[in-house]
Amino acid sequence: MTLPGSPFLAYRGEELFLEDCALDALASRFGTPLYVYSQAAMLAALEPYRRALAGREHLICYAMKANSNLAVLQTFAQAGCGFDIVSAGELERVLAAGGDPAKVVFSGVGKTRAEMRRALEAGVMCFNVESEAELEVLSQVALECGTRAPVSLRVNPDVDAKTHPYISTGLKDNKFGIAHQRALVAYRRAASLPGLRVVGIDCHIGSQITDTGPYLDALERLLDLVEALEAEGIEIHHLDLGGGLGITYTDETPPGADELIAQLLARIDARGHARRKLMFEPGRSLVGNAGVLLTETLYLKPGETKNFCVVDAAMNDLMRPAMYEAWMGIVPCVRRDAPAQTWDVVGPVCESGDWLGRDREFAVEPGDRLAVLSAGAYGMSMASNYNTRGRAAEVMVAGSQAHLIREREDAAELFRLERTLPR
Ligand SMILES: *Cc1c(COP(=O)(O)O)cnc(C)c1O
Repeated sequence: MTLPGSPFLAYRGEELFLEDCALDALASRFGTPLYVYSQAAMLAALEPYRRALAGREHLICYAMKANSNLAVLQTFAQAGCGFDIVSAGELERVLAAGGDPAKVVFSGVGKTRAEMRRALEAGVMCFNVESEAELEVLSQVALECGTRAPVSLRVNPDVDAKTHPYISTGLKDNKFGIAHQRALVAYRRAASLPGLRVVGIDCHIGSQITDTGPYLDALERLLDLVEALEAEGIEIHHLDLGGGLGITYTDETPPGADELIAQLLARIDARGHARRKLMFEPGRSLVGNAGVLLTETLYLKPGETKNFCVVDAAMNDLMRPAMYEAWMGIVPCVRRDAPAQTWDVVGPVCESGDWLGRDREFAVEPGDRLAVLSAGAYGMSMASNYNTRGRAAEVMVAGSQAHLIREREDAAELFRLERTLPR
């Protein structure tokens, strides 16, 4: 049986495997909570992007905030990807993983001067600028560094991505990007600033988008701008359509990346822009279904209205259910031959919002390991140390090999940077 989202995750008999690794055995070997990722699943998710863009000048910049483990970055760097970063810290990770700074785009509404300097020094490909005020500062910083900063303006096309309000970014009341009707003015200013070099235009309208409509609407609005800009002599080299493509957590049916891109290319070509360089910034769709979070059942608390299955992973390990009320599949690593019961799967953190899944049906006993599915994106990268819980270990599987790619944090590590007061 194959589970939603990934052909690399399947039961063999009663045992759940990711590629050729039995997950229960990995939980025994590395402990829990444990993130496990499939390298083959990540590369397979990249394939439809590449296939659809073959023969065109393009760059796929993995949006690394989805999962920024060095081994994950290394995997995408070796596959030829660039990176979409949102902080100087992420830039340091790209460099440490062997990524090419000349394939990095730097997004985010609040870049500091220090971050701009570091990115200029490293030689990033482009700054995706999100406000007119940022243009002024970036120009100054670039001149101080004796260079010109390559810029694209992140345009807010005011389209509804029809996703969760917290992950919708392309509406006019979101903090992101430059309003579509201000974009011409902002570009004129960018073109006139001595420390800047206009190279492209970008947008990113939201996350977990399951329909092509919002992308096509955003594209049309961007192309309108490109045409208006070029009529004024402001040349736009690349068109960056951001990320945001959704994945299947339960019964969502997002288009494949190849299908989405085919529709976009048809519109791009129809409007006479066939030769323009294209960029995408996928995050979730490259890694989300490549990972699971393994957790061990600590206690069962049957109750009058709810049965609680208390596990050793919590909201600090995986924020998505608590933060977005996200539904994530939860299945046993080894299926029991017993009647299923209905459980709320909850963690040990002292918050009622600390749940991983509600009203889930399976047979379970204390000590059994469960797998939270589709946890490869915005899982570990959003993990915290709340309740002084060390973050989970991470493992990458490749075939039957399992590599530890991040050690489990211990308590001493958590307060290593703290100091007691003088006595
Ligand atoms: C988060 C983000 C992405 C990636 O979004 P996904 O939904 O994970 O694909 C791409 N571009 C920017 C600017 C982002 O902030």
